[in-house]
Amino acid sequence: MSSAGKAARVAIIGAGPAGLFAAKQLAEDGIEVALFNRDIKPGGLAEYGIYPAKTKIKDGLRSQFREILKTPGINYFGNTPIGKKFPLGLADLKKMGFSAILIAAGAQGTKWLGLPGENCAGVYHAKELVYHYNHLPPYAGQSFTIGKKVAVVGVGNVMTDIVRYLCTLPQVEEITTVARRGLAEVKFDRHELEPIIGHLDWLDFQAEVERIAPAMKAVGQEPNAHIQMISERYQKTAEKSASPIWRLRFLSSPVKILCPADGKVWCLRTEENELENIPGGVKAKGTGKFAELDVDTVIFAIGDRVDDELGLPIKGYGFALNNQPRFPMNGSSFELDENAKSEAGLEGVFVCGWSRIVSAGMVGIARKDGVNAARVIQEYLADQPETASVQIEPLEMKLQSSGYTCVTLEDLNRLEVAEKKQAELMSQDQFFFDSNEEMLKSMGLV
Ligand SMILES: Cc1cc2nc3c(=O)[nH]c(=O)nc-3n(C[C@H](O)[C@H](O)[C@H](O)COP(=O)(O)OP(=O)(O)OC[C@H]3O[C@@H](n4cnc5c(N)ncnc54)[C@H](O)[C@@H]3O)c2cc1C
Repeated sequence: MSSAGKAARVAIIGAGPAGLFAAKQLAEDGIEVALFNRDIKPGGLAEYGIYPAKTKIKDGLRSQFREILKTPGINYFGNTPIGKKFPLGLADLKKMGFSAILIAAGAQGTKWLGLPGENCAGVYHAKELVYHYNHLPPYAGQSFTIGKKVAVVGVGNVMTDIVRYLCTLPQVEEITTVARRGLAEVKFDRHELEPIIGHLDWLDFQAEVERIAPAMKAVGQEPNAHIQMISERYQKTAEKSASPIWRLRFLSSPVKILCPADGKVWCLRTEENELENIPGGVKAKGTGKFAELDVDTVIFAIGDRVDDELGLPIKGYGFALNNQPRFPMNGSSFELDENAKSEAGLEGVFVCGWSRIVSAGMVGIARKDGVNAARVIQEYLADQPETASVQIEPLEMKLQSSGYTCVTLEDLNRLEVAEKKQAELMSQDQFFFDSNEEMLKSMGLV
């Protein structure tokens, strides 16, 4: 379809759920957008994070996203990352004349603990594996050496997904989840246990709860009340399997990954913790006693951080938000701290989704955040003098001459057909290309 005469007033960086729903809201309200996405396909972590076996939710979201991209006024530029290390950064988009820029780029960085041994072979961040098993290039094509005994650090939903994945690998014999605090502080949703609970080493779990019971009672927690949510699910599950076996180690902070001369993980050293009441919760406090976990692979599922390559101000793991926004929405700020240093300048720049609050919940929350950000931008634009929108045809030419091979909605349709055809040829339900080159080739773009 020709882009002659098309224009956009707002640039959105990132076509995950937050960016897509923000684009839909703006376009439906008559504000045209240019939607720049690093990945060829839209969807962000809905495409490349949600566990592959959740086919119903993933397929449902895929078709919703495809419908959104058809909305008149949305101009999709896939395979078009924006930032300091790419041909175009935020300052370039500003110079082109966009009246507002919405950062919906998720939280692309990874959190690490900074422990000795983190760069040993066999130490990974959960996100690398999540991207790998969800076919995101370049991770899709990389090989990850997972051994027989794996430690997974963290107790959120990403941990349960990783344990679920590890249970599909034939070589894995033992999986140990390592948690800094106790049973009352686990963060995963209870229903996420269902696919993995049958692998739980029940006797070991009971012994572990007995071990940590005095520490829980010391901060006023009743261990039995918390055992119930796991035991009920364990008793109910018909599919019990000891291969691989899954164990939980509470009150344990990783302090070092030991690797002998060959650089491969040999064991994970942890410090035992006790619990201490603090306002609004409990914290872990080291006891000075150490334990060693016999593992050959360590996976950190401890969260994300935003990408500093966008050149925006950072505070902690997220972008520095303005606590006194000019355009608050439902008590929240979608604006950046103007006092912080920024290479691109912050006027007209807004944030939403996981870029606004790192790792903040499920797709539904990102969707709501995108819609709210769109409303904030509408208020901002209403306050600005009307300026000419950016013409899409010259923008396409500028992107091309800057070295991008941009992917449009029409290209995505061809990619979908090619992947379906390949699935049929291979008698599979689904097929996904593992590299950008294969995808671009299937769309006739290289
Ligand atoms: C392992 C895992 C499992 C999950 N499972 C579920 C689940 O089962 N159900 C559920 O509801 N939610 C789940 N979630 C949460 C859900 O995926 C998120 O809530 C949601 O995707 C966040 O949306 P977002 O748009 O803010 O960010 P993202 O989904 O991260 O989207 C960001 C987008 O920005 C693009 N981008 C990044 N940097 C740039 C750049 N520099 N230039 C241009 N584009 C860029 C990316 O390509 C991506 O498309 C899961 C998350 C994870 C990590």
